[in-house]
Amino acid sequence: MIKRALYIGRFQPYHLGHQAVLEKIGREVDEIVIVIGSAQESHTPENPFTGGERMEMIYAALDESDLRERCVVTPLQDIKRNCVWASHLRSMVPRFDVVYSNNPLVVQLMSEASIEIRRSPMYQREQYSGTAIRKLMRENGEWSGLVPDAVAAFIKEIGGLERLISVSKSDSD
Ligand code: ATP
Ligand code: MG
Repeated sequence: MIKRALYIGRFQPYHLGHQAVLEKIGREVDEIVIVIGSAQESHTPENPFTGGERMEMIYAALDESDLRERCVVTPLQDIKRNCVWASHLRSMVPRFDVVYSNNPLVVQLMSEASIEIRRSPMYQREQYSGTAIRKLMRENGEWSGLVPDAVAAFIKEIGGLERLISVSKSDSD
């Protein structure tokens, strides 16, 4: 029987740590549904990219990998009601057997819903971290080597760097 996993994140942006996790999941299951959480968020310092932009980023990175045929990417907006989030998730995505996440809230909510949850090792977490990458982007640091080449090219194409800097400013800046 086909075993299908969910991999959930905000992917702001999709980086090489996410890619390493996906490659590991790909060795353990047949199909992967990549769920883009907080998909309604965009244009903020913590969530600069839209749900659709994050979808494009992930597909562009997958096009460079042999996981492409085994993955689908789907956005999921927040419902701001954690106690029913597992049902919300189930209602919006294809059926799945197991969820991969290291996020403590996701782990807690999945366990309470009796959904099998697996964690993955953290890969070079100091640098492969959305928070660290957004900081580097704002401060004109070396960020592009921390994401797949196709993601760096996509962010440049949509003016993502300028957007992040602009939405991080205050009125008096
Ligand atoms: P942020 O700092 O914005 O939260 P993030 O790097 O944690 O960004 P998420 O989209 O929140 O990225 O992560 C999705 C999932 O990937 C989470 O389960 C997270 O723990 C995991 N993850 C993120 N970075 C790594 C990494 N370097 N190695 C392994 N797993 C990671
Ligand atoms: Mg995170």
